[in-house]
Amino acid sequence: NKDFAGKVAFVTGAASGIGEAVARQLAERGAKVVVADLKMDAAEKVVAAIKASGGEAAAVSVDVGQADQVDSAVQFAVDTFGRLDVAVNNAGIGGKAAALGDYSLDDWHKVIDVNLHSVFYSMKAEIAAMLKTGGGSIVNMASILGTNGFASAPAYVAAKHGVVGMTKAAAIDYAQKNIRVTAVGPGFIETPLLGANMSEEAMSGLKSLHPIGRLGKPDEVAAMTLFLLSDAASNITGSYHLVDGGYAAQ
Ligand code: NAD
Repeated sequence: NKDFAGKVAFVTGAASGIGEAVARQLAERGAKVVVADLKMDAAEKVVAAIKASGGEAAAVSVDVGQADQVDSAVQFAVDTFGRLDVAVNNAGIGGKAAALGDYSLDDWHKVIDVNLHSVFYSMKAEIAAMLKTGGGSIVNMASILGTNGFASAPAYVAAKHGVVGMTKAAAIDYAQKNIRVTAVGPGFIETPLLGANMSEEAMSGLKSLHPIGRLGKPDEVAAMTLFLLSDAASNITGSYHLVDGGYAAQ
């Protein structure tokens, strides 16, 4: 199904994990994809893999916590492929694991910059580009922690709740401009973000939080993301969609 043919996509954090799966699936369905990431070597590898399977992609370096870099990266997408139709604001970090009282101001600001301010900077640039060609759709990668709390993650939980709120606010402002904005809330997903050296005990503890009995996979989150980006979701905006193996049902 090449339903994204002719469309240009911008995906942040696309060099790894969920973002990589989103970039690959978008390319498979015909989009021209800009793989934006802090890690250029890894981003170039994702681009090479997409091209090797017949897709179109280009890599761009960005620190999503820096507004000027985000503007340049979105401009790169428009300069390279001529327009912007879909965007996935996915780059994020886990941040330091500590209770609120043990969170330093530096640790707090880092997580809020990369996980929350980034989404404001990104949507601002993406919406400006999309308005020039009649609209588009945006998915913000939130988390189950966009509505639930979690131990030792005050900045991450606050940032993701903020992303869910910002999604609703932007969706209302641009609903009549043909720009849809939604959020995805993954449960715990098997990606490098979770930490490669997690103990077996900690890993089985995480799995048991999900009634499905396992962690999610990047491709499962990408499937929801592509549905929301696609024209099949034309009446869906401002909403938050879990891909959480039943986590929130408990
Ligand atoms: P990941 O670590 O596999 O990939 C994240 C990518 O973002 C990496 O390529 C990294 O280089 C990039 N990145 C980090 N900081 C950046 C910055 N400042 N500028 C540009 N790029 C940057 O992580 P993932 O698990 O695929 O996470 C992707 C998103 O999904 C994040 O927003 C994360 O919070 C969210 N999420 C992940 C899980 C999970 O369990 N893995 C659960 C819920 C939500």
